[in-house]
Amino acid sequence: MGVENGSQSIPWGGEWRRHLRSGPEMDLVRSWMRRVECPTCEAAAGRACRTAGGRPTSEHRARRDAVGRIPYAKWQEEGLIPEQRTYTIPAVLKESVTARADFNVDTALADGVAVVRMFLADRLGLLLQGEEAMDRIDEAVRQLIEVRGPVGTADMVTVLASLVTALLSASAGPDGDPEALFDMVIRAQVDTARTIQKIQRERAEG
Ligand SMILES: [Zn+2]
Repeated sequence: MGVENGSQSIPWGGEWRRHLRSGPEMDLVRSWMRRVECPTCEAAAGRACRTAGGRPTSEHRARRDAVGRIPYAKWQEEGLIPEQRTYTIPAVLKESVTARADFNVDTALADGVAVVRMFLADRLGLLLQGEEAMDRIDEAVRQLIEVRGPVGTADMVTVLASLVTALLSASAGPDGDPEALFDMVIRAQVDTARTIQKIQRERAEG
């Protein structure tokens, strides 16, 4: 799976498809669109559409409507394009879309909210199944990162860190020390993890 140019480019629905990825596929679509003269800019059949200023542009809406449905299935049958792969939207991406609608926020914050909500929803699983639940979350986050790419991922990490800071400041209270609270939380987590490891080791040794 490659890196997307931005979340905006992903059409949402029950599933999302990757049309127009390969060069040959793009060429086929382009020549299909150009089979007819453009009703808008009057570009002749086989020629690119033009802007009012005369620059080449993507095919006008009226021209796309005029050529009708793009015959992907036929092209696949003829072996002109590879069998279309259909991807199911990972649950975390659906959760991100929900968060975006809930709070009317940008993608980075919605992603951060989605990941935290996933943790919250699975907190019982994390307690009972440990690794298994963590693997599930790891997988979901990995899918998110693949779709968002390095820039979107960096944005999300920044948002998550700022969320942690805001929550720590709120928990510490007006006279509290958020940094000390953070140290305490990390130490407590590490201690818990080490205790569990020790118990597991002892159990394994019988
Ligand atoms: Zn045109």
